[in-house]
Amino acid sequence: MSVLVADFVDSVSRRHANEPEFLQAVMEVAESLIPYIEKHPVYRKNKILERMTEPERVVIFRVPWINDNGEIEINRGYRVQMNSAIGPYKGGLRFHPTVNLSILKFLAFEQVLKNSLTGLPMGGAKGGSDFDPKGKSDREVMQFCQSFMTELSKYIGPDTDVPAGDIGVGAREIGFLFGQYKRLKGEFTGVLTGKGIEYGGSLIRPEATGYGLVYFVEEMLQKRGDSVRGKSIVISGSGNVSQFTAEKCIEMGATVLTLSDSDGFIYDPAGIDENKLNFVRELKNVRRGRIKEYALRYGCEYFPQEKPWGIACDIALPNATENELHVEDACILVNNGCYVVAEGANMPCTPQAIEVFRNKGILYAPGKAANAGGVAVSGLEMTQNSMRYSWTRDKVDQKLKTIMQNIHRSCVKYGEEEDGYINYQKGANIAGFVKVAEAMLSQGFV
Ligand code: NDP
Repeated sequence: MSVLVADFVDSVSRRHANEPEFLQAVMEVAESLIPYIEKHPVYRKNKILERMTEPERVVIFRVPWINDNGEIEINRGYRVQMNSAIGPYKGGLRFHPTVNLSILKFLAFEQVLKNSLTGLPMGGAKGGSDFDPKGKSDREVMQFCQSFMTELSKYIGPDTDVPAGDIGVGAREIGFLFGQYKRLKGEFTGVLTGKGIEYGGSLIRPEATGYGLVYFVEEMLQKRGDSVRGKSIVISGSGNVSQFTAEKCIEMGATVLTLSDSDGFIYDPAGIDENKLNFVRELKNVRRGRIKEYALRYGCEYFPQEKPWGIACDIALPNATENELHVEDACILVNNGCYVVAEGANMPCTPQAIEVFRNKGILYAPGKAANAGGVAVSGLEMTQNSMRYSWTRDKVDQKLKTIMQNIHRSCVKYGEEEDGYINYQKGANIAGFVKVAEAMLSQGFV
């Protein structure tokens, strides 16, 4: 680590003590950005990175609600508004028991760079609650969402801050949140994205993160004269991102071997086909069951409390959650012949795992580039809402593809090294940073 990086990390650590995930994200970015900033002293003089690592605003609030037994429950709600230099704040809401300020600050910080990479005018934010929708009735989830939005509505709006979904916040939750915002404000506006198609949602938004991830991987492979077709693929998670990643992989002629949830993973050597994926959709989105049911239904192996990284594959797509792929997993993947890793989740690979990929010359794409398709189509949903118009499925899909190709191009521009290796992590960090930094320079010390 250079002296400058160490000094910077030291000062950020003091300001954000007890926030390990946020520091991990900042450290990862600082390592590739500081050498670039050293060559562009104007960024250093104006303390751009120091300002970017301090949220513009953090709101924390109480969320009381009543469960089905008539008891009062209390959760904590958050919105981290990180940076609005290039557009209104934009970023998802996460409902999961592990949610805390450190996790939301890391996600909001990553979101700033990711949104910049899409080329669309969106600032970065993230929010959520330690509420766990798992095991709750629809009525309880609605009660919670209404209470959460009653407070959050004071801080968001179609031109100020436009939240979306993330872990634990899908179509059902977005519907309840939107309904309460509309009721409180008496206006029908594009204040959330990921809305149902009947009330202002965009076609392809549910698919966008997963599809975009596979489009990005295809770009990485095409640069080498290769393709996703015929490859064996290991995926973690079985939620929104994983389901549509699997769908696109199957459509493009690859074999998907695994899916997982927080209890374990299934390994289907015959490959998960479209019919089996329909079963997963019904299992996860309707019955809200556990992935082990897949193994019972299709007679394949289930590995409780394990991650899928020990299964031999060409491509690994960690799509569940942060820090789910460790250095030992990275070594096993590489030893088993995996040569592409692209993050559908945010920060799923630990820094030590990423180092293994880099040292071994593995193609590695960070989430801020590879999973940016979701927020990109959220941006397109905002555009359609402003125009009071809906584009066709093909038009949105084509725009998504073009955006992912552009992000890939930006990563190559800033990340190609002398030996020809493409450091996508460095490329994404610098490309995302430059646009925000230039906007911040123009706007003075705000
Ligand atoms: P979902 O809630 O739909 O699915 C999450 C999946 O990950 C579930 O299978 C869940 O299992 C599993 N999971 C969650 N937490 C853990 C954990 N601590 N350990 C193991 N498994 C876990 O979320 P999404 O698919 O929307 O999001 C997945 C990832 O993608 C997140 O990192 C998110 O930030 C990122 N992302 C999502 C975008 C989107 O558009 N939705 C956009 C960009 C990034 P279980 O059911 O057991 O909880």
